[in-house]
Amino acid sequence: MKEFLNILPQKALSKKRDFKLLAAKVKKLKPRKADEIFQQLHDEAFEQINCLDCANCCRGLGPRLQKKDIERLSAHLNMKTSVFADNYIRVDEDGDFVFKSMPCPFLMGDNYCMVYSSRPKACREYPHTDQKNIKSILTTCVKNTETCPAVFYIFEKLPEILP
Ligand code: SF4
Ligand code: SF4
Repeated sequence: MKEFLNILPQKALSKKRDFKLLAAKVKKLKPRKADEIFQQLHDEAFEQINCLDCANCCRGLGPRLQKKDIERLSAHLNMKTSVFADNYIRVDEDGDFVFKSMPCPFLMGDNYCMVYSSRPKACREYPHTDQKNIKSILTTCVKNTETCPAVFYIFEKLPEILP
């Protein structure tokens, strides 16, 4: 997996035009059909890919944090929210709360998440390919093919399943 992750950004960029064309085809489907196709390929992808062999999103992307995430993480670590924020949070150029440093400070050496049961909502939902109304996030999905092998798999398989 490590070797694949090293070449993934390059592979995804070389296929970006094809993936954009596929996204345009998905965009023409009825919302429910598009969701069904993505759900099927999402399930297939995660039958084969174990996030614990990867953790690429935890290393390179990091979540946008909501107030509730910060409160839950602070409680999990028995810290005052203000202390947690001082230690771990910064505001990025878009005005969002993000972790000060990447890889994520809670990613452990074995790819486990130290705060798994209290992890941010964005971490729970990433890579979002099983979410309703997939048509609304296709541009993000194409971008995520550079980071997430599961999303790359989904776009590779789309031509086989698209009507
Ligand atoms: S969600 Fe994707 S990028 Fe994140 S650990 Fe799982 S396979 Fe890797
Ligand atoms: S909080 Fe956990 S799941 Fe989220 S980026 Fe950090 S290590 Fe990954």
